[in-house]
Amino acid sequence: MRYAKSVADLVGNTPLVQLTRVTDGIAATVLAKVEYLNPGGSAKDRIARRIIDAAERDGLLQPGGTIVEPTSGNTGVGLALVALQRGYRMIFVVPDKFAGEKVAVLKAYGAEVVVTDTSVPPEDLRSYYSVSDRLVSEIPGAFKPNQFANQNGPLSHYESTGPEIWRDTDGTVTHFVAGIGTGGTISGTGRFLHEVSGGAVRVVGADPEGSIYSGGPLHGYLVEGVGEDFWPETYDPTVVDEIHRVSDAESFAMTRRLAREEGLLVGGSSGMAVVAALRTARDLPAEAVVVVLLPDHGRGYLSKFYDDDWMRERGFEIDTDKGAHE
Ligand code: PMP
Repeated sequence: MRYAKSVADLVGNTPLVQLTRVTDGIAATVLAKVEYLNPGGSAKDRIARRIIDAAERDGLLQPGGTIVEPTSGNTGVGLALVALQRGYRMIFVVPDKFAGEKVAVLKAYGAEVVVTDTSVPPEDLRSYYSVSDRLVSEIPGAFKPNQFANQNGPLSHYESTGPEIWRDTDGTVTHFVAGIGTGGTISGTGRFLHEVSGGAVRVVGADPEGSIYSGGPLHGYLVEGVGEDFWPETYDPTVVDEIHRVSDAESFAMTRRLAREEGLLVGGSSGMAVVAALRTARDLPAEAVVVVLLPDHGRGYLSKFYDDDWMRERGFEIDTDKGAHE
């Protein structure tokens, strides 16, 4: 018999698939690492498992304990599916602008969700950050993973994502491309690939226009899960060899193409990473192997950039060349 003992054991070992349509005119091999095939639907399952394992080991989480984290999406799902196996109570603090479907998903996993007011400043007692800090101090045995500082996040990618890419490409990978949110994915995976290749693998970041990592003026953007307005401790800038800025329009157009042309229904940060991967691959010879990480599934975004009206209302062009001729 071949089976996993729990859903947490299904995390990782995601496959690589070659991109063959959006890569028209490119000689290099471009391979996508499909993180939505993790059991919670995103790369965040990896960090959740390692963060909880480490907290148990370090005595920060005891049987019957409570996990409290400000998160609106993928990290919450990852934490939930590991925590529920082990009997922890879960409380996720969610900004009201992200309420709706994502809250419903967290509740479906049995988590408690506290919705907070995004119109108040961070130091206000009702803010996203203040509420989660208060819950941690008030609930006995509460543990806050703190994904923007917890080094088990990058370490999980150093120990799993990096080695999987090296193994599955038989050590032929030449470029690794990923979006930057907490920075855990690119810092951990990139560090492993640098070490194992003796510095030969080039690590390429993708960042939304308006975020801090690519150095431009800070402003809002619509692609979710990537970009920041501060420097988190989970990001190691020394690992990243170059960073591409990608606009929302480019990210969403490419994400929609990935669904229609490659059959990959993914989130907007995946389209963003693929834009950076194609810019990188364009000038490379046929022997180059570019691996681009696609962080999450597209089902959580059907009423956003997959919806034509949503796109038009925000001034984005609709790609009418595919699927519009029936
Ligand atoms: N894309 C999505 C959809 C995410 O949720 C995240 C995590 N915030 C990322 C990309 C970026 O990953 P990381 O935090 O490891 O930089």
